[in-house]
Amino acid sequence: MPRINNAQLPPEVESHHDVVLAVHGGAGVMTRGSMTAAVEKNFLSKLEGALKAGFKHLKKGGSSVDAVEAAVRYLEDCPVFNAGRGAVLTSNGRIELDASIMDGASGLAGAVACVTTVKNPVSCARAVMERTHHVLLAGSGAEQFAQKQKLEIVDPSYFITDRQWEKFERFKSAHEVGSNGNGKSITGTKVKKKAAKKDIKKYGTVGAVARDNKGNLAAATSTGGIIGQKFGRVGDSPIVGAGVYADNATCAVSSTGQGEYFMRSLTAYDVAALMKYAGMPVAQAAYKAIHISLTGKGAQGGIIVLDAKGECVMPFNSEGMFRGCITKKGEVFTSIYR
Ligand code: ASP
Repeated sequence: MPRINNAQLPPEVESHHDVVLAVHGGAGVMTRGSMTAAVEKNFLSKLEGALKAGFKHLKKGGSSVDAVEAAVRYLEDCPVFNAGRGAVLTSNGRIELDASIMDGASGLAGAVACVTTVKNPVSCARAVMERTHHVLLAGSGAEQFAQKQKLEIVDPSYFITDRQWEKFERFKSAHEVGSNGNGKSITGTKVKKKAAKKDIKKYGTVGAVARDNKGNLAAATSTGGIIGQKFGRVGDSPIVGAGVYADNATCAVSSTGQGEYFMRSLTAYDVAALMKYAGMPVAQAAYKAIHISLTGKGAQGGIIVLDAKGECVMPFNSEGMFRGCITKKGEVFTSIYR
């Protein structure tokens, strides 16, 4: 396996220092120039809003777990991202949400999968971590647990936005099976399929990584999955080591992209393991996990990574990744493309 040193890192690997919180709003996005300036501005302002929501906690001495939860809650409430309200629909027109959180100080983690009524799945994941001895609760068990914990419960229709419903309609018509009159089955037209394929590429999962003033790291991820996914499908986002990971000794990671690849590659843990066992600095480890491991398998996506010294890297191999970070002085950086 080739060794990478800093000189070999391509210029597109941005590295930020003195960072206390970073967020992402999904990789994939649209091709450069296909979003209006106003749409891009809206995404960037939402990322900034999430950074500020988390930073508020850090400034007053709150924990990194408080910060990632607040940032992810903010993004779950924004209808433009594929998490909480605004999430994508499954093949049967439902919304099924997954979320996770991990505390790098204690090594504890919590996650939920396939929830349909919990307004902020990341808070439910935190409750699993702090109030049970389990890591992952799914479906109705997770929902009953959320109710018992007095978390906010909403009707499933709360999550469905017009934008996602339209995408779902496009997905359905591109994949519907009909008959051409000769008894042969036909599936959606090429044009429809192309449009639906573009929708699939626009991931919009959200996540955050943080470091508090005690030096503790935390990470959280939340998603609606992939448009038109089989109902019951669970991706990487609630899987520790794949979609989320935090360990004070190495780094905090939140992933976004084609979940099945992240699960098989254990991408989030891959970064930590390269740092821990191969002694790689964070930038090299993150670069390797995305641009060598994932790219080599033909997968698309990205990660945000923060190490214990406050170095933050956000590599991705898709067109773009909605991302941003904030330093301990409160300086904000947000971006979409390379
Ligand atoms: N990783 C998510 C999943 O596979 C999707 C995404 O990141 O947008 O469920």
